[in-house]
Amino acid sequence: MIKKFLKRVFRRSAKAKTVGNAQVIPFAMHGVLREQISYGAKRVTDGLQAAGFQAYVVGGAVRDLLLDKTPKDFDVATDATPEEVKRVFRRSRIIGRRFRLVHVMFGEELVEVATFRCMMEAEDAQTDEHGRLLRDNEFGDQEQDAARRDFTANALFYDPTTQEIYDYHRGYQDTRDQVLRIIGDPLVRYREDPVRMLRAVRLSAKLGMRLDEATAAPIAQMKSLLDNVPEARMLDEVLKMLLSGHSVECIQQLRRMNLHHGLLPLLDVIMDQPMGEKFVMLALRNTDERISQDKSVSPAFLFAALLWHEVLSDWNALVKQGERPVGAMHTAMDGVLARQKKKLAIPHRHDAVMKEIWLLQQRFEQRAGQRPYRLLEQPRFRAGFDFLLLRCASNEVDNELGLWWDEFQDASEARRQEMLQPEGAGEKKRRRRKPRKKPDAGSQPADQNDSESA
Ligand code: ATP
Ligand code: MG
Repeated sequence: MIKKFLKRVFRRSAKAKTVGNAQVIPFAMHGVLREQISYGAKRVTDGLQAAGFQAYVVGGAVRDLLLDKTPKDFDVATDATPEEVKRVFRRSRIIGRRFRLVHVMFGEELVEVATFRCMMEAEDAQTDEHGRLLRDNEFGDQEQDAARRDFTANALFYDPTTQEIYDYHRGYQDTRDQVLRIIGDPLVRYREDPVRMLRAVRLSAKLGMRLDEATAAPIAQMKSLLDNVPEARMLDEVLKMLLSGHSVECIQQLRRMNLHHGLLPLLDVIMDQPMGEKFVMLALRNTDERISQDKSVSPAFLFAALLWHEVLSDWNALVKQGERPVGAMHTAMDGVLARQKKKLAIPHRHDAVMKEIWLLQQRFEQRAGQRPYRLLEQPRFRAGFDFLLLRCASNEVDNELGLWWDEFQDASEARRQEMLQPEGAGEKKRRRRKPRKKPDAGSQPADQNDSESA
């Protein structure tokens, strides 16, 4: 409290000075201490400066510190080339082909070091037919490096030695005012890189910053440019939103801007089903909560949640047509995964886990004999159970089922025996089917299908 008050008093009396085109904000004004910088980032800036180079902490970290938030990571920008950086730090390596960056390791911490880059002059820049930049990896100076960044709040350079902030685009004031403003002409900047529209949504939602009007206005008319963004990059950005710890705000903001269409195509369909929407929002809220408690979250779980109602409605349709439940589930899962894969490249490596989680759902209903015991031994049981709880919370299934499993997991053997349902109970509905003529893989009882889903 007192610290904050003193900071405010200092801030009022201190003044920025102008150096070239930069405003240099003194510590007395911004109050970010050298000690707030990570050990690794300090070692990197110290080492580079001692070798005669410029080196600053840049981007999200400076912004987050000004907003009293804990930075995710600390990036460094320098006028040293990647080779020069590598020569200064023994434990470092050059990575990337398009942007050559250096990763410097300090124990657990990895510091990303980027050489100042410039935006290429229009005639030299390589763009696609929509104006999207295909190359922007020319080296430049600090001022040019500031200009190629996306938002004013993201273009601040902090020098841990002098504790000064270099600001070329009034980013300091914008950060103080909690305004997210794009640098330069929004039309040009979105055309160069349409992902900046999604970054605007994610960062404003995550940081609680207001989107400047001119920054927000063109998004509605320019959103079709997102169609030209390579799928892998889209997925990356969508994942960042979903795992930002503020996914609910991100989705709400996307919807307000009418941007959610075409991002996760099935999100559109899901949002139109009242039950689906409730389930998806619960899953997102649950993910946000886990992140705020520093618990792990798995992208596969989240994707499984986003696509669940799609799987469910296909499954229901197939069962109505007479297909057997387990076989229908396999058909539904494969169909949904194939359909969405065409639009948004959810990597195949998530398929197995998503399918396991979905398949477990049917098995939770079987509460007789040895089946519940076998289910408890499944490596994916925890994820499946968490998923079941979401289904209960969204009123898709009766709460009683979630409570039963909650108790069964930790119950004594005697209590478990009491809890077990008589053989055949709970499956009556499903067993209303014609007698089998010949066995086929898709119609085996659910718990014999483990190996298929693993
Ligand atoms: P987060 O807290 O999510 O990491 P961030 O702003 O640090 O937010 P990064 O993706 O880590 O985001 O990017 C680091 C910095 O690189 C940004 O602060 C910004 O200056 C710059 N940057 C990132 N993406 C773009 C882009 N598409 N166009 C221009 N500059 C970008
Ligand atoms: Mg970052």
